[in-house]
This record gives sequence, C-alpha cells and structure tokens, in this order.
Amino acid sequence: MKVTNWPDCDVCHKPVSRGKAGALSVCATQVKRHEAEVRQWKDAHPGPIVSGSAAQSYPRAVPWVWAHRTCQDGETGCDCGYWFSGDRFDTTAKALGWTLHLMEKEWLASTEWEDAVRRFHSVTNG
Ligand SMILES: [Zn+2]
Ligand SMILES: [Zn+2]
Repeated sequence: MKVTNWPDCDVCHKPVSRGKAGALSVCATQVKRHEAEVRQWKDAHPGPIVSGSAAQSYPRAVPWVWAHRTCQDGETGCDCGYWFSGDRFDTTAKALGWTLHLMEKEWLASTEWEDAVRRFHSVTNG
C-alpha cells in the first residue's frame, strides 16, 4: 500500500506531485512552547485524577505541516524544526517504521503525529 495521492501543500495549497517533493515538518519553537505549557498545566492540576473540564484545558499539541520542500520556509512552514521528505513514509510499512523511530523522541507527545499518520493513511492507495 503506497501513497500516490499526496495532500495539497499546507503553505501554498498547490498539489504535491510526488513524495520526494514534499516534507512533513514540525516547528521546534512551538514544541518547546507546548512542553512549557504542559509543565504549567501539570503544576496547576496535580494528582492522578483530572476533572473533565481540566482535561479540556490541556494544551493542544503542535500539528505537523505537510509542504513542498521549497515552501518549508513559507508562512506556516518553518525550517527551525524536524522534517523528513514524503518518500520516507509513502508506504504503510515505512509509516510504521517512522512511528517507531519517532516514539523514541521525548517531544513526540507534544505533536499531533497520530493526526499526520491518519491523514496520509487515508490517501494510501491499494
Ligand atoms: Zn507549496
Ligand atoms: Zn519554527
């Protein structure tokens, strides 16, 4: 199962023809901000039991941006973070491999990796 129908670029909204032309990236500045917000949130909500309203105030994780390699420095893309090109995760097996690799990173929980995987899984052909 291989991705052949790539989503449009998040920055310029034009089609991305092939995986190598695009990259998924996450902003390191936003990730650091999220980690600090989570620390504050945990200080404000100590203990194992969290009420429903408190859970809703949990800081939202940072989304991954899908963009042309040439758009990475654009409005919503930035080059301060972690990125890899689309051909690194254009099959289900590669996406799983990347997920296992990223799970070793402490900061992964500050990103919406699950959303990114679902997004590309939904356009996997075959
Ligand atoms: Zn673009
Ligand atoms: Zn950034």
